[in-house]
Amino acid sequence: MADNHTPEERSYNMSRIRSKDTKPEEKVRKYLFSLGFRYRKNVRKLPGCPDIVLPKYKTVIFVQGCFWHMHDCGRFHWPTSNQEYWKPKIERNVERDKKNMELLRSMGWDILTVWECELSTKEKREHRLKRLAAEIKKKTEPNSLTNNA
Ligand SMILES: [Zn+2]
Repeated sequence: MADNHTPEERSYNMSRIRSKDTKPEEKVRKYLFSLGFRYRKNVRKLPGCPDIVLPKYKTVIFVQGCFWHMHDCGRFHWPTSNQEYWKPKIERNVERDKKNMELLRSMGWDILTVWECELSTKEKREHRLKRLAAEIKKKTEPNSLTNNA
């Protein structure tokens, strides 16, 4: 198979290999599953192919990489070389995210985003996942039924 990656992509991929054992979205899924949440994953029928879809709560979850989705957390840095390649690519991602989220909302879905940096240590992860579960549970409150015009 031909390797079409730029050196930057390749080194980025290499840096990800150490965390290959459990991908961030898998960690989130495992946690939710352990709490009894049932979900579908990578639902291609929905805009943006959400990582986790909870039909019962009409909620989708995106687990986003800080680099690819330009998270404003200090983890994102523009690569110093090959900017003319990276800039449009990343900006397209951000633009696409925005559009997909608008579409999902217009379809009545609630959207939760978990950032990779929020899962970077065990402590942060436990904190974030606990909060996530609480955010999902909130979606079943009665007022979630009233704004469906
Ligand atoms: Zn981040």
